[in-house]
Amino acid sequence: MGRVVVVGGGVVGTMHAWAATRAGHDVVQLEADAEPRRASVRNFGLVWVSGRAAGAELDLALRARDLWQELGSTISGIGLRSDGSLTIAQHPAELAVMEELVAQPDADRRGVRVLDADETREQNPAVRGELLGALSCSRDAVVEPRQVLPALRAALASGGRYEFVGGRIVTHVESGRVADHTGAVHGADLVVVCPGAMHHGVAGEFLAAAPVRRCRLQMMQTEPLGERLTTALADGDSLRYYPAFDLPSAAALPPPAPVVSEYRAQLLVAQRATGELTIGDTHHYDEPYDFAVDEAPYAHLLARTESLLGRPVPPVRRRWAGVYSQATDDSTCVRIRPAPGVVVVTGLGGRGMTLSPAVAEQTLDNLS
Ligand SMILES: Cc1cc2nc3c(=O)[nH]c(=O)nc-3n(C[C@H](O)[C@H](O)[C@H](O)COP(=O)(O)OP(=O)(O)OC[C@H]3O[C@@H](n4cnc5c(N)ncnc54)[C@H](O)[C@@H]3O)c2cc1C
Repeated sequence: MGRVVVVGGGVVGTMHAWAATRAGHDVVQLEADAEPRRASVRNFGLVWVSGRAAGAELDLALRARDLWQELGSTISGIGLRSDGSLTIAQHPAELAVMEELVAQPDADRRGVRVLDADETREQNPAVRGELLGALSCSRDAVVEPRQVLPALRAALASGGRYEFVGGRIVTHVESGRVADHTGAVHGADLVVVCPGAMHHGVAGEFLAAAPVRRCRLQMMQTEPLGERLTTALADGDSLRYYPAFDLPSAAALPPPAPVVSEYRAQLLVAQRATGELTIGDTHHYDEPYDFAVDEAPYAHLLARTESLLGRPVPPVRRRWAGVYSQATDDSTCVRIRPAPGVVVVTGLGGRGMTLSPAVAEQTLDNLS
């Protein structure tokens, strides 16, 4: 048993704090903002198994899904709903990709099957638009991104071996200790640095040669829909995005709309527990990023949502952008050990909310 200092209060840092306390360690977690405000609270909250690459990534996602279930059943504030998802096909080539996915040997583990139009509407009666069918994934789930971190921290604190210290920018990390901007020094048997997309900060020297990049996404949230979406939703453009659909039949997918190409857009819709729809997203890699958000992809994503639901969506109440860190090789994350007793973990990409509990478990298992 020892003392672990976690740098970074996002979901990756918080899941490492959880895994470390579970392994019997005392944990101090240091976060630059008074309350985390970055990728982990700007996302859809989708725990997304359906699109994961076959093999190690799917194995990790399934382990993470089990851990989310365990966490969700004991920490109700996380807001875990095992709703599953529907990826809607509006073109025969999209349906063909879905048919090919469910013919793969890992289809049962993913919990995927293809539904016809009537079955799709039966599973999610709010889907009243023109459609040919859908890929249903029973293993996909949703959590409440604004609630997950405070809920996890409260549960950790109740165990008496965890302390969260917000408003501390860690300025130096070495074996056995970290220092923050107030001059305070925190001794540690293990330091876990989870800086998210802050690649040039305290972890900059460790990440300089790492295979990692950043991606900026645009998001929005409507007013409450006024009816329940019984599943999360995705559109056919998501078939170009997730690695599970990298199958021979994908070559016949229709060309994307110009706005989809320009903004690398796909539609994902997650309903919040309070009824609002979180809608996204776009993908932008070239830096420096614009500080403004663009209207063109928002108009497209709203039109797509309305074409799936077959009704107008409520007015948009909030728009924002978020940036995540993404490994550029085949790894599920970037995990570096620059010095004894120091590990840096980031680069989980657009699957960080999904994979974080299993990645944290792996980090702790590999160190013991
Ligand atoms: C718009 C958007 C939508 C997404 N949707 C999903 C989704 O639905 N499902 C999914 O699985 N994934 C999704 N993702 C990806 C997921 O959100 C990220 O992979 C994940 O949140 C990364 O968590 P993190 O803890 O590494 O980073 P962050 O959430 O960025 O947290 C890093 C934290 O470290 C702190 N920090 C950095 N440097 C220091 C320092 N020197 N001292 C102290 N603190 C420091 C920062 O202040 C920050 O709070 C999405 C991402 C975005 C941006």
